[in-house]
Amino acid sequence: MPELPDLVHVEAGLRAAVVGKRITAARTGDPTVLRIMVSEPFPGVLVDRTLAAVERRGHFMRFALDNDLVIVINAMLVGRYRLVPPGSEPNKKDPRSLALALVFDGGAPALHYLDDKRMGKVYVARAADEPTIPIYGQLGADVLSPAFTREAFGALIARRRDQVRAFLMDKRALASIGNAYADEILFAAGLHPKTFCNKLAPADVDALHDAIARVLNDAIAEIRKRDEPIEVKVRDFLKVRGRDGKPCVVCGTTIRAVRVGDGDACFCPHCQRETRKLFVNWTRLNDGG
Ligand SMILES: [Zn+2]
Repeated sequence: MPELPDLVHVEAGLRAAVVGKRITAARTGDPTVLRIMVSEPFPGVLVDRTLAAVERRGHFMRFALDNDLVIVINAMLVGRYRLVPPGSEPNKKDPRSLALALVFDGGAPALHYLDDKRMGKVYVARAADEPTIPIYGQLGADVLSPAFTREAFGALIARRRDQVRAFLMDKRALASIGNAYADEILFAAGLHPKTFCNKLAPADVDALHDAIARVLNDAIAEIRKRDEPIEVKVRDFLKVRGRDGKPCVVCGTTIRAVRVGDGDACFCPHCQRETRKLFVNWTRLNDGG
């Protein structure tokens, strides 16, 4: 999915291009992606409304309109945003992957939200009903907020009995970390992805907290520096994610992929050692070995 650093870049691009503009038309290539939580039908409910603000919240993008309406998008696995220069919109039928197109006045580019897998969701709701939007209404701590202190993080992880990678990716605990940055954060903290939260020493917990801010902020800075169009996902600077089979940038050991929970984690077996005995090997104990 577009992850937090990608979405910070998207947020900045959208703010510069379309905030303050009036919507003159809205379309979809696949109505099943839309969740219209108001009585007025799409697209009329959005037309002639001014886009007052764009804000990333966790892994969601929130668009505030001038009439107390919001559009909230969960881009899920492959959703992406694109700005289309005025006059260059295709005149053929919209593909199903075009989940939402917003056309603006005043020479602004159109905004397309594209989703090839159509797993994302586009919610249109009254601002008062936002808390009822699934996951979005229950998002956990904003990991970029100043309130996300070592103490706040320590209190969250102290309650957990699951593997640390699953905890990092639990959107109701932390908003929001996906597959790629979970791997990068664990690498930066030197923790094996199968480590259990309740096996972490206090120093590990602090290292993990520090790694979250450092990895995400470094990625935000790198993506900002590249300044690619907002639909481009810049990932070539990542140290472990997508690099299985290649040498670790720190020690040269081959990066491996391993199944953790319901996803694959990439890690360096040398930099992220499974130092603690996580599973008792009963067979060996019975053998007296
Ligand atoms: Zn290494």
